[in-house]
Parts: sequence; structure tokens; C-alpha cells
Amino acid sequence: MKKWILPLAALMLAGLFVQCKPKAAAETAEIPVKNVILLIGDGMGLAQLGAAMESSDLPLAIERAQFVGLQKTASASDRVTDSAAAGTALATGTKTYNGAIGVGPDTTRLVSILEKAAADGLSTGLVATYRITHATPASFIAHVPDRDNEEAIAAQFLDTDITFFAGGGRRMFEQRKDGLNLSDELRAKGYQIVYTQEELNGIASGKVAALLANSHLPEILGGRDPMYLARTTDKALEILSQNGKGFFVMIEGSMIDGGGHDNDIDKVIAETLDFDRAVGRAFDFADAHPGTLVVVTADHETGGLTIPANGRGVEYLFGTEGHTATPIPVYVYGAGAESFTGVMKNTDIPKRIETLLLH
Ligand SMILES: [Zn+2]
Repeated sequence: MKKWILPLAALMLAGLFVQCKPKAAAETAEIPVKNVILLIGDGMGLAQLGAAMESSDLPLAIERAQFVGLQKTASASDRVTDSAAAGTALATGTKTYNGAIGVGPDTTRLVSILEKAAADGLSTGLVATYRITHATPASFIAHVPDRDNEEAIAAQFLDTDITFFAGGGRRMFEQRKDGLNLSDELRAKGYQIVYTQEELNGIASGKVAALLANSHLPEILGGRDPMYLARTTDKALEILSQNGKGFFVMIEGSMIDGGGHDNDIDKVIAETLDFDRAVGRAFDFADAHPGTLVVVTADHETGGLTIPANGRGVEYLFGTEGHTATPIPVYVYGAGAESFTGVMKNTDIPKRIETLLLH
């Protein structure tokens, strides 16, 4: 509890503007942004992170953030967003209705920051622990009025020349109602298709589609390799950084949200710590590659989690099995990081990334 009093007081006193390490950030402020790593912890509000911090003897990687801002998450249709509308807001800069993937309130097609980066000749990537066709990654590459149409979402991975994608969802590509085998079509476009982490580790360059589970990957508490997300982040960065023009990649810790829906604090903490390992790899990459911006945020909070005084033995309380409307922190590191302070709309994030990355 004590850990939270100071940061919260600082947030309030500073008008919700926190400048953690002004010197380090100033050193990077003048370097143009060439690479952007956007990490989304699905359902990760401040209390989810607080719980993970309490569970860890060491500081979390995310505590290295140079600047912190806040974003408001409401969708065009609802005070409380879902992952589709929030993903679309973070990908395209347009608020839409809950359930929409990459389309506006009138279902017209939007253009995502990933698609704009690919069109400009940058390398692009998506990494998740859920199906790669699930709402958050889908919002960066697909355009469908209904998030549940995941076979249509899978087909749209062929429409953008994305360099690297990794996650679950193999059946959406290979066991489809229309009988198509999209993996064959991806191979014809030059993709290396891999089905295991070992195969993925053996790839050093080129276009990659890693379909590592039929549906979602296992949960951390269900046996997922606790280094999967961190290692896959490393592999994505290794391959994407071979493009001299730069890259955009979105990396999702997909299952923090599920822990919130299940009101399962152990799952929330395990998945948040897993996500934080990927954040650490991204920050390390930014240290080694000047011109790299890392933005870490969430799409919304899930579970209404609080961390009450535990006089009655309760350490964590959930207030709902759904999402909430609480604003979400944005943690930023590297080149251009100072552009993400203050109170933002979720739609401001891709707009600011575009201004910095696509000159
Ligand atoms: Zn959810």
C-alpha cells in the first residue's frame, strides 16, 4: 500500500504529469524516431500493475519508464469499451463502436498505423498470446464490422505486407469453413510458416508467420513457457530491425484481461509479470538502438480491481467481472517519449506515433 501513496500523490500534484527521469529522456529527445514498439497489456489497469509490483521482490521493468501519461478509453458507443473498439482506437486514431475491428462507427474502413508504416516501406509486426486474429492484434491489420468473424480477419493478413506475426489461432488459417488454407497462400507470398517456438528460434530473417497454437496459447499458470513473450519479442525485434527504414510492432499481453474477467488475482499477477518481461526486452532494445520509441499501455481495465487495507485478510478485491471505464496509464521510453505525457484520448496515441514515425 505504502508504495502507492507517493506515486499517486505525485500524479495529483503534478496535474497528472510525471517526469520520472528528465535527464535520460532529454538525452534521447533530439533523436528522430525510427522504430516504434507498442506494448498493450489487455485489461491492465493501475491496480493490476500494483498487484504485480507487490508480488515481486525486484522492481518491474515497467518502472524504468521515463515518462507517464494517462489515456481515456471510452468507445464511440459505450462508456466502457471492449478490446475491439479500444484496439481500433489505438491502431487507427478513430473511436468506434464496441465489437468493431478497424472500421468506423458507420463501418467504413479505417487505416491503421501498422498499415501506414508498411505502406511507407517500414517493417511491421504483431505478437500476442491469444489468437493472432483476436480483437487487439486484429485491429491493427483487419477491417470487419464484427470481432467474432475471425476467419475473415485471418484472410486479411494477406492484404498487408506485414513482416512478422506470432501468436495462436492456427485454425483460423488452416481449418476454415471456406476450405482455404491461408498458410499455403502466405507461403506463396514468401512467408516462412512455423508452428513451434523451436522452429521460430531457428529463423533469422525474412517474413514470418508463427501460428503456435490452434486457438490461444496456454496461460502462464497452465504451462505456457514463461519466456515465450519475452523471447518472441526479441525475435520480432531481431527480424524487424533488419530494415534500415525502421519498423512498427505491437506486442500484446493478451491474458491479463482473462484474469480480470475470472476475478483470479493469481492469473492477473502471473500474466502481468509475463507482460513485464516483454516490456523489459523492449526497453533494452531501445537502449541499444537509439531512435526507438517504446509505448506501454492497455486497452482498458478489467475486473474493477482494488488493493484495500487488508485488516480482514482481503488483499485484492474485484468490483466486476467486466471491463471498467477507469483511465489507463501510458508508460513511455526512448526517442520521442516526452510526446506521450499529460491526459490523452486513446486515439491520440497512434496519431502521436504517426507524427513521430512517419515523417
Ligand atoms: Zn475483456
